[in-house]
Amino acid sequence: MDNLVLQCGCGQIKGRAIKINPADRTRVICYCKDCQAFAHALKASAQVLDEQGGTDIYQLPPARLQINQGLEQIRCLRLSEKGLYRWYAGCCNTPIGNTLSPRVPMIGLIHSFIFDPEREAKLGPVRACVNLRGATGQIPKSRLDAAPASGYIGKIMLKILGWKLGGLGRPNPLFSAKGEPLASPRILRPGETV
Ligand SMILES: [Zn+2]
Ligand SMILES: [Zn+2]
Repeated sequence: MDNLVLQCGCGQIKGRAIKINPADRTRVICYCKDCQAFAHALKASAQVLDEQGGTDIYQLPPARLQINQGLEQIRCLRLSEKGLYRWYAGCCNTPIGNTLSPRVPMIGLIHSFIFDPEREAKLGPVRACVNLRGATGQIPKSRLDAAPASGYIGKIMLKILGWKLGGLGRPNPLFSAKGEPLASPRILRPGETV
């Protein structure tokens, strides 16, 4: 198992993800419209989205995410009152990741925050393409065959349950022990940018 070097675009936020293992099979591409809206809101779509509007995300439990520098630069936004907590670097608008709520022990780390030169080897292949209806173009069949959408939700739910039972929900660098977000979320209106 490996550590993964994490850093925002300007280098003020640095961290690492620990105990990364391709056998966890938690790397996905999400094609949902909200992930696209998040990238657009940060004016980071060219950097983040693939040709079909997909975002490459590595899902891991909070205890495996460590921020060693620049915690005060981390910002949060939501696309609606009850939307995901979407985290980014206030210093340079680098998208960092998504969390459902403080109670769900999973962070979806966005590839733009993964700075590791050995990223591909450490993460392994994409395992699932999800929220296909949001895709902005035809996803190549070879990609869908290699990383099908079907069955993934069940697998990740089991994974999250395992992380919860394994105590990997804490510590969580993005929420306090009481569940308060590190930075108070700004609710964005449709089309609004940061
Ligand atoms: Zn930065
Ligand atoms: Zn998404």
